[in-house]
Amino acid sequence: MTPEARAAEFDAADPLSAYRDRFTLPEGVIYLDGNSLGALPKATPEVLRRVVEREWGEGLIRSWNDAGWFAMAGRVGAKIAPLIGAAPDEVIACDSTSVNLFKLIAAALAMRPGRKVILSEPGNFPTDLYMIAGLEAQGLATRRLAEREALADALGDDVALLLLTHVHYKTGAMHDMAALTRAAHEAGALVLWDLSHSTGAVPVDLNGVGADFAVGCGYKYLCGGPGAPAFAFVAARHQAELRQPLTGWFGHAAPFAFSDDYAPAPGIEQLQCGTPPVLGLAALEVGVELIAEIGVGRLHQKSQALSQFFLACLADHGVALDCVSPADSSARGSQLSFRHTEAYAICQALIARGVIGDFRDPDVLRLGFAPAYLSFADIAAAARHLAEVLANGEWQNAVFRQRAAVT
Ligand SMILES: *Cc1c(COP(=O)(O)O)cnc(C)c1O
Repeated sequence: MTPEARAAEFDAADPLSAYRDRFTLPEGVIYLDGNSLGALPKATPEVLRRVVEREWGEGLIRSWNDAGWFAMAGRVGAKIAPLIGAAPDEVIACDSTSVNLFKLIAAALAMRPGRKVILSEPGNFPTDLYMIAGLEAQGLATRRLAEREALADALGDDVALLLLTHVHYKTGAMHDMAALTRAAHEAGALVLWDLSHSTGAVPVDLNGVGADFAVGCGYKYLCGGPGAPAFAFVAARHQAELRQPLTGWFGHAAPFAFSDDYAPAPGIEQLQCGTPPVLGLAALEVGVELIAEIGVGRLHQKSQALSQFFLACLADHGVALDCVSPADSSARGSQLSFRHTEAYAICQALIARGVIGDFRDPDVLRLGFAPAYLSFADIAAAARHLAEVLANGEWQNAVFRQRAAVT
């Protein structure tokens, strides 16, 4: 049987196949970059039109009360909560992932006086490492990096916080969240998980593993749109003690008392800083509701099937690429990454054929399998395109080697 024939059988048996129609995807495009910018839910433009024209245009300032804008960050956070094993009042949608990292790293340092080390791994997503460096420059933190196998040993009694990305952005390799959380706690440290490549793609159980803090991205698998608000999780047991440093008025216990003195909101609302981006939250809410409706368990199952099928198709075509993602689909997120010295040009040649993946410096071709809107037919076609691009040397065309600003 050809890969295409097998794909047709898989698609016919796929319980999620109908959800593809809930997304807008351009004709002729196979979108393998939903791990970087999720596709547009069909419902989003209509919701945005309502919020802009009716709530903003007609409701004006009244909409902060009447349309629920004031409570929106908490409401969207509460809808993200079940996707990550959190309680509704432990999650808030606000700011960017980078800013939320800063707030929670600083908060963790304040909760572990006498300890200054933030432990992470080399090759973690850059912003995670840069935000530690920013606190280090202020004299508040010391950055320590240890390779994955050495993390447990690096958890000395000077470590305030273990900060890791659950699913690695480049390789898709997934950390054992339960084991590392336990190891950190045994060493007296707190844990902050970056769930940017996990949320909406793989099951996460923050309270099941006893995690302290988490952050994550709204524009990847949650389909919140470019620059969507991110989210932050603080375990209920830490909320009374929590002090985050960006003490803006929206994190105040009573913002509309207009007091001269800051007093933090008692709950997760303290994580807010300034006025929330209502349009961004409205778009994010649509994506979150859709992903929650499909269900992370089913999404994860399908994503594993899609990536396994892609590997099988490549094998059928006789393509032998250096896959840097874990071979075991339960040990990786929803992506496959391949190392090749010409990964950039190969990626561009694929994009010219309508197969959109991305490139991560210096030599990784990254293909994401967002299970909410990809079919097995897409996977078979993408594998065939990749096999052809490699076989005929199409990537050697000079235009495919010119680097754009965003890769
Ligand atoms: C995408 C991503 C981010 C994004 O941070 P922003 O502040 O939204 O730019 C952060 N961390 C990880 C691990 C990511 O994959």
